[in-house]
Amino acid sequence: MYNESLLKYSTVRKALLYESKGDGIVQCNLCERRCNIPPGGCGFCRTRVNINGELYTLVYGDLNAIESRPIEIKPFFHFWPGSTALTFSTWSCNFNCPWCQNWHLSKQSPEPRTSLYIPPEKVVKKALLNRDEGLCVSFTEPTLLFEFSIDAFKIASKFSLYNTYVSNGYMTLEALRILRDSGLNGLKIDIKGDEDVYRRYCGGLNVDFVWRNAREAKRMGIHVELVNLIITGVNDDEECIRWVIERHLKEVGPDTPVHFTRYYPAYRFYNPPTKIEKL
Ligand code: SF4
Repeated sequence: MYNESLLKYSTVRKALLYESKGDGIVQCNLCERRCNIPPGGCGFCRTRVNINGELYTLVYGDLNAIESRPIEIKPFFHFWPGSTALTFSTWSCNFNCPWCQNWHLSKQSPEPRTSLYIPPEKVVKKALLNRDEGLCVSFTEPTLLFEFSIDAFKIASKFSLYNTYVSNGYMTLEALRILRDSGLNGLKIDIKGDEDVYRRYCGGLNVDFVWRNAREAKRMGIHVELVNLIITGVNDDEECIRWVIERHLKEVGPDTPVHFTRYYPAYRFYNPPTKIEKL
């Protein structure tokens, strides 16, 4: 049970996107899971909790990794080439992919009592000291750092740094608009496969929201690139790859880069690595 005793910790902040559903229940409107959370409970991602009928994030400034990385590693191949972005992340995820390549970060729940709080000003200062040209929220799902990234992006924009997300693309449109208004310049979206892959492997999700966000982000003027991790025995058949390519052409068009990357066994998935010939 989550209660008022958590409110004294710096990483616990009021969430921005939620609504009351009566009887103390709140609906989180940050991602398209739109969890209904009872008092004392948490959402699917375990980063948002209901304390006395109000929604709080547990991960504001709770950063589990922070380092300069080349923008091409994201991969962004057509956005500030040759630059580095100060890249950071927090705990947990709103997806449940059994092959998660960053499972040591994404499968951990946040713990405000022992977290190390890093303020957004400090992140921007570190980027400037490193001579990074931008920020990137990555490694785990950046949407879960929503409130923190909004504050960091606004400060970063004042210093002419760019702001990027490496995301599964499952945020709500409300969240995407606020991110754009706060300075999000680049969005890389992971495509896991076709409808069946999202339903079977990622926790009963609807892939249409992901394509909608790719399309809408482009319309908002955000630079979009897509990546499809090709996983042996999951999405490496001709039919699934063709589905992704056709949907890509229909939703975002041929001028939007799409990358195909190699899977390695990780977390709870032991199928062999993607064959080079397949890529
Ligand atoms: S961010 Fe998504 S998974 Fe997490 S509580 Fe909100 S709706 Fe649920």
